[in-house]
Amino acid sequence: MSNNKRNLFSKGDIFIVGTVIIISLCFLFSAFNSANESDKAVCIKVNGEIYTEISLSKSQEPREIRLENNGHNAVIYIEKGEVCFSYSDCPDKLCVNQGKISKTGESIVCLPGRFSASIISLKNDSGLDAVVH
Ligand SMILES: [Zn+2]
Repeated sequence: MSNNKRNLFSKGDIFIVGTVIIISLCFLFSAFNSANESDKAVCIKVNGEIYTEISLSKSQEPREIRLENNGHNAVIYIEKGEVCFSYSDCPDKLCVNQGKISKTGESIVCLPGRFSASIISLKNDSGLDAVVH
């Protein structure tokens, strides 16, 4: 019966650790959101040139940006300060699989279509140029 005891103990441990992780994640998430809200934008590029820039905010209505280049099509989906490729006809689908980005400096690139989406900071004036690659 000592096995039973040990199992109960480890289950309880996992529960406590899990709860602590969830609480701290929630805390980090809300702290991050309130700190940087509306200071960010997504810079969408096609063929290395800026196609559009859209400022991000948590209360943003969903919107889709359709991109077309060199026979490739992609759709960038923006909602509540998060950006992702919701569709792409590229063969590898790396851009779609990368999921959502929302933090300054993060970016998604679709190589076949030469599309990219980068989160940039609007805090300083040189921020826009600094992220250009
Ligand atoms: Zn792609």
